[in-house]
Amino acid sequence: MRNIRKNFGTVPVIHGVSIDIQDGEFVILVGPSGCGKSTLLRMIAGLENISGGELRIGPKVVNDVPPKERDIAMVFQNYALYPHMTVADNMAFSLKLKRAPKSEIKSRVDRAAEILGLGKLLDRYPRQLSGGQRQRVAMGRAIVRDPQVFLFDEPLSNLDAKLRVAMRTEIKALHQRLKTTTIYVTHDQIEAMTMADKIVVMHDGVVEQVGAPLELYDRPANLFVAGFIGSPA
Ligand code: ADP
Ligand code: MG
Repeated sequence: MRNIRKNFGTVPVIHGVSIDIQDGEFVILVGPSGCGKSTLLRMIAGLENISGGELRIGPKVVNDVPPKERDIAMVFQNYALYPHMTVADNMAFSLKLKRAPKSEIKSRVDRAAEILGLGKLLDRYPRQLSGGQRQRVAMGRAIVRDPQVFLFDEPLSNLDAKLRVAMRTEIKALHQRLKTTTIYVTHDQIEAMTMADKIVVMHDGVVEQVGAPLELYDRPANLFVAGFIGSPA
């Protein structure tokens, strides 16, 4: 991202953000509510247009590439599953839209189910699942697409504290296995410190600091970072 800006009407909310993300990195965007994390993620996904600057994936500038043509899968906080579809059909849906061959759909869904431990639940409906299982199905929908980049927007914020901690470990294990470049948004600095290869601290539409968790902890760039990283959850 080079000097990315976003205005809603005349109101600027992202003021020139530059971030480099390497292939395979697990990057966490962290910052208080309203600082622009979701907006930035939605621009990367192509769900919001970019007011200025340059978004590049590999060598290609993708500012004007429609979402469907970006090799990106997003998992939201309110991961609405299709209630009338089974787990398997929820995961297969985007592949069916793309008219993938049946055999390929089946093998991709089976693989995602195996990775996420959903193998025995493929015929269930969302209402028959626990919160953690539903979250896994939401991740399954992203995994089946085998994208170049995963985007997560506060995926655990609707789960209770215990499950949240367990899911952090699962998401990290998933990343160890797939090595897919991941941009993960949270307002929870503990989540950021425990999960990230690299943390991007945002505040009021600007990046305050980028660094490894320990780097931010040992050498915060300013009082905002020090206060945010050091504050209790
Ligand atoms: P975060 O995800 O960090 O909580 P957001 O990216 O959702 O923050 O919001 C950043 C700022 O942009 C906030 O001030 C929010 O009110 C504003 N905003 C977000 N979406 C819109 C929109 N569609 N129209 C107008 N303002 C918006
Ligand atoms: Mg948000």
